[in-house]
Amino acid sequence: MEKQYKVGDEIEFYCRACRLNLDGNVYGLKDEKVDMVMCRTCFKPMRYQPPVDMAARRDDKVKKLMRALERKKREDAGDPVVVRKGSRRIVTEQRQDEATPGPLAPTEEPSPQDRWRTLTADADARRAKVWRPADTYKPGDFLLHKKWGMGYIETVADEGLLVLFREGPVPLFRSEEGTK
Ligand SMILES: [Zn+2]
Repeated sequence: MEKQYKVGDEIEFYCRACRLNLDGNVYGLKDEKVDMVMCRTCFKPMRYQPPVDMAARRDDKVKKLMRALERKKREDAGDPVVVRKGSRRIVTEQRQDEATPGPLAPTEEPSPQDRWRTLTADADARRAKVWRPADTYKPGDFLLHKKWGMGYIETVADEGLLVLFREGPVPLFRSEEGTK
């Protein structure tokens, strides 16, 4: 049996404005169920949404962002319409890779940490852009992040950026909900 709420009762809910599970007050009922809630943090009335699993939600968002970034990376690297120095060769190789996975090549790739060290070795921190989700960035730019420090922008998509920091690659969301 569900709890019967009445207008004014305190209720935990997901606030779409604050983007958090928060306490609110029941603001309106419909068929004896909670329909509208007012957030006690931002004071906005809105349709009731039950609290969400924030960790799962974040995982989903990260996966979505990574997919968008992967897509963007492939577009940037292999769009056959774009004529670039050496692009023909790159495209051909990619097609082959996709068709025949083949045996795993011995990985001689540098670790993300090594790549970061190489890429940022000559970077001038004064020319790096401070991370602001709404700003415009392009791959190859350097970025300064409050938490992660200096980073090298690998991929830029509408949804966010993939940035290589000292600790490794980090997806950054355009919305403030991402990395804190
Ligand atoms: Zn709120």
